[in-house]
Amino acid sequence: MKQDTTIVTTGRSPEDHHGAVNVPVYRASTILHPTVAEMEASHSSGNFLNRYGRVGTPTTAAFETAIAAIEGGFNTVSMSSGLAALTSSLLAFLSTGDHVLLTDSIYGPVRRFADVHLTRLGIEVEYFDPLIGGDIAKQIKANTKIVFVESPGSLTFEVQDIPAIAAAAHDAGVLVFMDNTWASPVYCKPFSLGVDISIHACTKYITGHSDAMLGCATAATEELYIALKTFCVHQGICAGTEELFLGLRGMRTLSVRLERHMKTGIALASWLEQRPEVSRILHPALPSDPGHELWKRDFSGASGLFGFILHDVPKKAVDAMLDSLSLYGMGASWGGFESLILPTKPGPIRTASEWKAEGPSLRIHAGLEDIEDLKADLEKGFEVLKANA
Ligand SMILES: *Cc1c(COP(=O)(O)O)cnc(C)c1O
Repeated sequence: MKQDTTIVTTGRSPEDHHGAVNVPVYRASTILHPTVAEMEASHSSGNFLNRYGRVGTPTTAAFETAIAAIEGGFNTVSMSSGLAALTSSLLAFLSTGDHVLLTDSIYGPVRRFADVHLTRLGIEVEYFDPLIGGDIAKQIKANTKIVFVESPGSLTFEVQDIPAIAAAAHDAGVLVFMDNTWASPVYCKPFSLGVDISIHACTKYITGHSDAMLGCATAATEELYIALKTFCVHQGICAGTEELFLGLRGMRTLSVRLERHMKTGIALASWLEQRPEVSRILHPALPSDPGHELWKRDFSGASGLFGFILHDVPKKAVDAMLDSLSLYGMGASWGGFESLILPTKPGPIRTASEWKAEGPSLRIHAGLEDIEDLKADLEKGFEVLKANA
């Protein structure tokens, strides 16, 4: 089956739901069992279905089955947010005395979690240059357990050589985790690149409408899945059933939405690249991007999130420009139907590699509005920038 057919058909069984096309929102805490034997069977090890609401409902199972099918993994564990999925995946596999390698371009709140809490638990946290490739071998130690990649990074958009990193990690018996939120399960297949656990902020494109918090982690193998799911069951981690329904609903249109996000994002980035106010674009789908060749090799598309760097101008000019825009919202998150813009500061938090910007950095999420309106709004913004520079 081709991907778009899988997206439409996976995780649905109308015959089990009175013919309803979509799996309904199952609101359940208690799940009743008609006999002692069936109750005992529901608690047998490795059975995570229909045991208790916290462990999962049919809505949970539908969402998890669907994500695993699209991404090509063994199975998925859903969680309450993308950040919960990232931190829980780490905690499920790390023990005191272990060493973990995180990309220097990792999503900021994961860095904060690692520096504060993993360190507190006696886990050694070290960062690596996102562009390191196979040389990651030099940072792998006898106690290294996980190498964590995110490609492209959601502020700097550096593309990582994941197959090279994964080969070096696997040679040393080290697991590879990836934050695959940027590309979504549609445009990147982490398991074919050697990743062991792929994690998504489903809050972004999978839900796709800026109205729910949801995360998930998909494991390549049954063994990894059981370990991850068991940790989440023990810890009491579960996603809300309404959110899972919204995730499934968003997922059905993920491929068509992404096509438009990609087209508008590339068109906006190409237009910005010609602007005199702009120094550099951070978008791997542009041929001028240093990560373009790796992106072309490992991804089948680009989402609508990209960055750009202005020539050096005072902060007050950039602030005035951003305040003047009417079609670009300012706020955390991305992946909804609407356009966003955000000033970013990726440089100061890095420790393993230098990130230099010659001027202020901005990040755009290209929404589903008309490209001409989006350009016109930015063009007006650039007038304000000039007037305040
Ligand atoms: C937003 C984001 C997350 C966190 O997801 P939440 O659902 O907001 O917790 C993780 N990784 C990346 C790359 C993100 O952009």
